[in-house]
Amino acid sequence: MASVTLKGIGKTYPGDVVAVSDFNMEIEHKEFVILVGPSGCGKSTTLRMIAGLEEITEGSLYIDDKLVNNVPPKDRDIAMVFQNYALYPHMTVFENMSFGLKIRKTPRSEIKYRVEEAAKILEIENLLERKPAALSGGQRQRVALGRAIVRNPKVFLLDEPLSNLDAKLRTTMRAELAKLHNKLQTTFIYVTHDQTEAMTMGTRIVVMRDGFVQQIAPPQELFDKPCNLFVATFIGTPQMNIAEATIISENSVTYLEFGNNSNITRIALPDWKGRKPEVLQYAGKKVLFGIRPNDIHAEKDYISQHPEQLLEADVEFVELLGSDSNVFIKISGVEFISVIDSKIHMESNSKVKLAFDTNFIHIFDIDTEKRITN
Ligand code: ADP
Repeated sequence: MASVTLKGIGKTYPGDVVAVSDFNMEIEHKEFVILVGPSGCGKSTTLRMIAGLEEITEGSLYIDDKLVNNVPPKDRDIAMVFQNYALYPHMTVFENMSFGLKIRKTPRSEIKYRVEEAAKILEIENLLERKPAALSGGQRQRVALGRAIVRNPKVFLLDEPLSNLDAKLRTTMRAELAKLHNKLQTTFIYVTHDQTEAMTMGTRIVVMRDGFVQQIAPPQELFDKPCNLFVATFIGTPQMNIAEATIISENSVTYLEFGNNSNITRIALPDWKGRKPEVLQYAGKKVLFGIRPNDIHAEKDYISQHPEQLLEADVEFVELLGSDSNVFIKISGVEFISVIDSKIHMESNSKVKLAFDTNFIHIFDIDTEKRITN
């Protein structure tokens, strides 16, 4: 059993470089937590502090109930898997996997048993006598994982472990890692800059920016209720559409109004969203609203069932992707991207009727960029 608790954790590098500020989180046993954010936001520094490879300048770190700020890495009962695998080239797979156990003076029979067990889990039993040079990227990655598994650690720390693999292998390994987590029933803390990896593997995701935690939530909640504009546009591809609008309250209906004097579009918000006090307090004021490309609909059935959501759009460009198309549209001069089933024929430079699923419109304060409503 291992929980990891971060209380007010911060890191300042020499030269007053603040890499991480006031990180608070309780990671429970068996969670698969992902730290995600753009390059330089402090993910690796946080992971390295948990590993004990980086000194903690502020706050307290607990593994289970034990304060470990000053406990050396080897005594923290954690295993770290790095981006570059760090395998010893002159050793066989077996030797690479057993090295850590050997220096801990584990009995030989126990080493053999643990390496074989780990190799079985990772399906690399037939590679144990090979050297790393004779392995593919995916196989090396498994060996690096194997080396961590044999130690039977309380916590696995993984720093961008898939970033050296090609796109196809990354997709396969993503699923494998999720399965591995299920099998091992151990706490995983995983760093990536790739929001798809975060969304597909994590039980909870931590979105970071400039050293600060923005939001901590399960994947679906992060997608459905991003707490601010940064999270809203960081999670999801294509990115959420964002536009400026004015909130109008008229005859007990709340609208978003955008465009210019000669060409204005009004979107009526459903009452459950638009009549909330936190939205109504913005009446007459400018806000930012967001809608995900998949929440803009062109299907006949949807459109006929939601006539109140219909909008006229100019199709600027259609990008065929196979089963879906990215359709670049303009409404009252404002650009949006919608993702539409490719079976629905759309032509560039034409006019179409589309429906915005207003239940999924996100509204943000224009100054603080914080979410206004659920
Ligand atoms: P990420 O993993 O999200 O890409 P890092 O944790 O590596 O980000 O870095 C966070 C910030 O700390 C960056 O601004 C980076 O330049 C800085 N940084 C990282 N390592 C050091 C170091 N050893 N000395 C000084 N600054 C560092």
